Amino acid sequence: MNTCPRCALINPPSAEVCDCGFRFTNQTAETIQAEMSAAEQSARRGLVRGLVVAAIGLVLSIISFIVTKPGGYFFVASGALVGGLGMAGRGWSKLIRLSQAKREGGLAHSDTSAGKER
Ligand SMILES: [Zn+2]
Repeated sequence: MNTCPRCALINPPSAEVCDCGFRFTNQTAETIQAEMSAAEQSARRGLVRGLVVAAIGLVLSIISFIVTKPGGYFFVASGALVGGLGMAGRGWSKLIRLSQAKREGGLAHSDTSAGKER
């Protein structure tokens, strides 16, 4: 499997170009490293930003719940909660895929899968 170092999409071994436009062929280790750390950074930013948005949504919901008199209506900032958690989840899964690819060394055309069939 080729995990794209740019977008962390998992491509079939036969793929030469990822959906994001990254070419698997003729890439130097430096390029892959650079793409990967950039992707890791953006995934981490997305994760943090998503958590912040979800936290704001949660705080707003709690404040609304507290200030609402018993029997009244309070609102739940579900858009921020769901959107934020979704954003955080995407960043998180991207980070997981990137770190897996790094551990397995399965990036681009490093065809040294020595007895790693499962
Ligand atoms: Zn890609």
